[in-house]
Amino acid sequence: MKDNKIMYKISQGMYVLTTKGGGCIVDAVSQISGGDNPLVAVAVMKKNYTNELMKSGDRFALSVIGLNNDPHVIKTFGFQSMRDADKFAQCETTGVDVKIVKDSLGYMLCEKIDAIDNDTHTLFIGRVVDGDIFADGEPMTYAYYQAHKDELLKTKTEQGKTAWVCTICGYVYYGDELPQDYACPICGVDATLFAKR
Ligand code: FE
Repeated sequence: MKDNKIMYKISQGMYVLTTKGGGCIVDAVSQISGGDNPLVAVAVMKKNYTNELMKSGDRFALSVIGLNNDPHVIKTFGFQSMRDADKFAQCETTGVDVKIVKDSLGYMLCEKIDAIDNDTHTLFIGRVVDGDIFADGEPMTYAYYQAHKDELLKTKTEQGKTAWVCTICGYVYYGDELPQDYACPICGVDATLFAKR
């Protein structure tokens, strides 16, 4: 490719994809049919744990992330794995089997009808069986996220204290020294992945 940044010119959004037992952040979502219960397609990285869950589950939900929602949701669902952290314990959710993120513009609940394996991602197709709007607001685009991710993901620390910030999930440990055998209580990574502030 002469310039692969042309791929960033495809307009995509930011969503929390959830299914029974887990979820992750996705950007590749498209409506692919019309009618009262339209079809949507969502691409999920094959190496994500959520991909495994999507293959065994029969329903999934997409919570739409807006510009005014707390970017904590992106950190929670985008930078950890359910293999080592309970994402649902860190965000307010609603829904019984398939959780929906409350701090979002709303959601679409889908019944999975197909899964197509491609190079790096699986394309899941679902029929929208329910949906609601929680708040009026502008949806966040993937391009906006890429342009603002440093400030969106920045962890605020208390002034005048030495802080060690987990570079994976943003958890903050306060103390002059970080114990060498320390492990992040949220995402489980070791002390080498903490940065001093
Ligand atoms: Fe962490």
